[in-house]
Amino acid sequence: MKKIVLIVVVAVCSLQISFSQKINQTTLSKIKVKLLGAENLYEQGKYYETLEKIREIEAISEGMKSAKIQNLKVKAYLGWGLFQSSKDELDKLYEMNPDDAIIKDIASYESKIDEGIEEEKLAEIKKEEKRLKTEEAYKYFKYKECPRCDGYGTEEYYKKVKCTSKNYNLAHCDNGTWVFTNMYGTRRSTHEFCDGTGREEKEFERSCGNCKGTGKTLQYTGSYYFTSSEIENILRNNRSKIIEYLNK
Ligand SMILES: [Zn+2]
Ligand SMILES: [Zn+2]
Repeated sequence: MKKIVLIVVVAVCSLQISFSQKINQTTLSKIKVKLLGAENLYEQGKYYETLEKIREIEAISEGMKSAKIQNLKVKAYLGWGLFQSSKDELDKLYEMNPDDAIIKDIASYESKIDEGIEEEKLAEIKKEEKRLKTEEAYKYFKYKECPRCDGYGTEEYYKKVKCTSKNYNLAHCDNGTWVFTNMYGTRRSTHEFCDGTGREEKEFERSCGNCKGTGKTLQYTGSYYFTSSEIENILRNNRSKIIEYLNK
């Protein structure tokens, strides 16, 4: 009998376990160890691991209810950003008749749960708006001047080729060596222009890789803000639909 009383007193002091539950000393000690671990993890911001630890506690608790553990669970969900789960667990906590210290703790974070849920709702609305705008975006594509070639359809590129510098019949580059010949003989020196490499960079022209030489590309002209990669995706997934719409 004495032992039972002790258990209940310890339980009430440390875990705020509801009176109706009976749990043996060994299990209670295990729970306390795990709870310390869970609190530690929570302090380190490891919310997922905290919840895992609480699950371990619940697995050995045989349905025992502890407001202290439940409060930690609420806070871990909140820290993890699972606001609705946090709220659901908070509702359960209220039913456990939490003591003043826990009530005070709840007061310090409770508004953050509702704020989080509000933000999630807003984000959901924005996501839905984006989905709808993405769906009808195909109507807002037009052929416009290619930004890469300014509508010319061609672009320059540079390539290293054999150095072909020469000075009439007097001098020429021979694989990086400047060979100068006049009536007195031949003089050889490093060709400064190609730095003795015998190669020079030359400009060439090719058809623009962006517009395939047409000078025009399909561009989004709608007013909704999409990032450039979102527009690329829309274009990639709807090209034939866009062209069909343009040809109407
Ligand atoms: Zn040269
Ligand atoms: Zn182009």
